[in-house]
Amino acid sequence: MRVVFLFGRDLRLQDNEALSYAASVATELIPLYLMPTDFDQLAPIRQHSLMESLRSLSDSLPGGLQISRLPLEDALSSLGSVEKVIATKAFDTGGMLFQADLAEQLFERGIPLELVGSNYAVSPGTIVKDDGTPLKVYTPFYKRWLVHGWDRPFKLDVGAVNWVPASSSLPEPSAPAPFKIRAGEAFALRTFRRFQERALAEYSENRNRPDLSGTSHLSHALAHGEIHPRTLLAELGDSNGHEVFRKEIAWREFYADVLYRNPHTLDDYFEPRFKNMRYADPIVDVDKLEAWKSGKTGYPIVDAAMRQLNQTGWMHNRSRMIVASFLVKDLHFEWQIGARYFEEKLTDFDPASNSHGWQWTAGCGTDASPYYRVFNPILQGVKFDPNGDYVRKFVPELRHIEDGSLHEPWELIDGYQHGYPERIVDHSVERDESLRRLEEIKN
Ligand code: FAD
Repeated sequence: MRVVFLFGRDLRLQDNEALSYAASVATELIPLYLMPTDFDQLAPIRQHSLMESLRSLSDSLPGGLQISRLPLEDALSSLGSVEKVIATKAFDTGGMLFQADLAEQLFERGIPLELVGSNYAVSPGTIVKDDGTPLKVYTPFYKRWLVHGWDRPFKLDVGAVNWVPASSSLPEPSAPAPFKIRAGEAFALRTFRRFQERALAEYSENRNRPDLSGTSHLSHALAHGEIHPRTLLAELGDSNGHEVFRKEIAWREFYADVLYRNPHTLDDYFEPRFKNMRYADPIVDVDKLEAWKSGKTGYPIVDAAMRQLNQTGWMHNRSRMIVASFLVKDLHFEWQIGARYFEEKLTDFDPASNSHGWQWTAGCGTDASPYYRVFNPILQGVKFDPNGDYVRKFVPELRHIEDGSLHEPWELIDGYQHGYPERIVDHSVERDESLRRLEEIKN
């Protein structure tokens, strides 16, 4: 049987349930990737990170990867006679819409689309309460997710498959890469090994410190599917570091479950009453928004984090929470504005983790917490970047200050000596304002 395997957010050969299944039913297998229609609009760093993933996948396939930039209809027509298309099932809003459209167009051609597996250890929609309803709180989700468990990693004998050789080449990104980007399945496995050797044992202590390299940096690989969470989970034991890392993987699974069950929350409020809050207008307050985007708010930890995002396409989790809180609670913008900016810049962009990471921080998402968190950007800096190493790395205007006192440059005689900007707002004033706005929607 001549089968197309359509790669999506699963750019790997091993531990790929859908691909293993396709290989078992096909006599001829066409490995195909359809370029996203908005590829040219993505930030250069995102274009290059996707291209690296595709290049690596293509190199690991004996006949290369067939890549199409054609609109879906033309791409399907160009495939010739095909008996079936197989792909990993998508659970995010955009992915589900795309696969529904694909199924319809294939149906008109008499070709079935078979969706298999998922990019999660436990597919979204599986974990439920005793009464069959979904969970809205992480901890009970985590407990049931653990009890449910997952399969062992799937293995593929790549040499035993009859791959149809590709006849396409990789598209060119619209601008040069700002630095060398490494990606792909082999790189993801090496990254995991390095993390296991160097940081996993201390993960629970160091994971909140953006000044240390205490996390796995596997988010790009997971978002592009260069590694499956099963592969990671299969190697975790019971020590504290392993347990905390497993819990982080489960956050990704939890948010995927929440988005699958509430597809509108990709860009709409999980808690609808937050729609009625008073928010800043991005046109009227464009200067504040631009200061946030470019890392010039006058709050060192916020600025270091935004510059890390702009320069590297990645940001530490603690920093993501700090800048998200600052945009929503100090500058009073709607969370979607920040989420869209992250989408433009993050090489690990993931629709569920991004929308629900933003909503959790904004206070309008899934949250068991009874109080409204407003992160204090000064205390966060002092606590999680105690010596100021993270700020010095990304904010050259503060490099002359050698210790953690750089988190409050306004207290230093030479804090503004090298052109660091003054604070655009007063955190204590804006915190009270944010709580006032919350009170208004409570009533
Ligand atoms: P590690 O600490 O090594 O964690 C391992 C893996 O667990 C991560 O790669 C990720 O897949 C998962 N994970 C860890 N923390 C979280 C979390 N809080 N929520 C969901 N999954 C998690 N993650 C993305 O992958 N893509 C996004 O677009 C994204 N946007 C975010 C936006 C905001 C506002 C916030 C607060 C968080 C966001 N996250 C996102 C989650 C988290 O910040 C990143 O997954 C993490 O920083 C990636 O670094 P790492 O791989 O070194 O993480």
